[in-house]
Amino acid sequence: MIKMNPHYNKLNASYLFSTIAKKITEHQNANPDTSLIRLGIGDVTHGLAKPCVDALKAAADELGSDESFRGYGPEQGYAFLRETIAENDYHQRGADIDPDEVFVSDGAKCDSGNFLDVLANDIVVGVPDPVYPVYVDTNVMAGRTGAFSDGRYDGLQYLEGTVDNGFVPTPPSSHLDLVYLCFPNNPTGASATRSQLSEWVSYALEHNALILFDAAYERFIQSTDVPHSIYEIEGARSCAVEIRSFSKTAGFTGTRCAFTVVPKDIEIADDSGEKRSLHSLWNRRQSTKFNGVSYPVQRAAEAVYSPEGRREVDYRVNYYMENARLIRDIMTNAGYTVSGGVDSPYIWVQTGTDSWSFFDRMLTEAQVVITPGVGFGRMGEGFIRISAFNHREKVEEAMERITRAL
Ligand code: PLP
Repeated sequence: MIKMNPHYNKLNASYLFSTIAKKITEHQNANPDTSLIRLGIGDVTHGLAKPCVDALKAAADELGSDESFRGYGPEQGYAFLRETIAENDYHQRGADIDPDEVFVSDGAKCDSGNFLDVLANDIVVGVPDPVYPVYVDTNVMAGRTGAFSDGRYDGLQYLEGTVDNGFVPTPPSSHLDLVYLCFPNNPTGASATRSQLSEWVSYALEHNALILFDAAYERFIQSTDVPHSIYEIEGARSCAVEIRSFSKTAGFTGTRCAFTVVPKDIEIADDSGEKRSLHSLWNRRQSTKFNGVSYPVQRAAEAVYSPEGRREVDYRVNYYMENARLIRDIMTNAGYTVSGGVDSPYIWVQTGTDSWSFFDRMLTEAQVVITPGVGFGRMGEGFIRISAFNHREKVEEAMERITRAL
């Protein structure tokens, strides 16, 4: 009989969001007249920015005529988008990134998982705790871990985020080959300063390690001492891959467009210890397994950088960050220790009880859905994540309900 990938059996059976969904369904069945407000999952609520919609329509029209039809595009993305990204996201911030180091894709989630394809299995992997679960589960699927016990997988090195380190783990004294960093962070909302990122870059250079830097929330950064790209740190071109997404800023969660930057300076060893180019390996992987993002979607992503596109993105970011401020203030005034919500749309609250009890209380007493921190790892126990992605009236009402319940 056909056999399954045995590593899937190791995956933690109670996946966070399916457990939440089950609890919501049970609650709604028992209380059919109540209306829930969801401040849980990190999906956006504003529609796609207008210039992006216009670009999508115009590109669809182009595809409809034989003269301007485009079939398979370059697997790495069209030059018009790669050049726009390199110029606006990197050159204008003083980061030296070439357009052909930018690989356009259909999502930051896919890229962070797919990247494991080009790395050996017997490497030491460091993941943050709390963590965006995709980093962990994709390593489990690839067979880089042992069994799951006591909230952790054997074989992974966990980098602990705590109140004391402001949820920005410091480099360990032990050796890692691959390190996942995500700033601004999901779920804790923490951001990393220049000196904190510099420490990680120095660590990676010293250990010949690779940093997978997930900057999906870069556009939400408000603090002036927080770099927007890891390439603002000297040396990062030799040790860091950066992943970004149009999902949360311009409303591409359903439309799907993101990109991964793989600098040509990064060298990686083959079995015999000979040095190879990571850029060439990723290019090989993408050319073989991916056929590019659709032309209309890439045109829509390009429109994000137009003057009107920027205004729309600014409007969305400011709107969600005003929600974040509101949530932060109310939870702080209610006496909770709160972090995040300054450079990111996530607010991380220390509950004083275990995460699931607080979740249950908010669901049943306030009819508000939040996310239990323990679902993001053992270090998330005792915390909850509140997402600022919703309409203002909903956020205001949710916070009134929470205040009453508390
Ligand atoms: N990276 C982080 C840290 C995220 O929180 C998310 C979505 O929630 C993603 C990546 C997914 O981005 P995309 O929609 O581009 O796949």
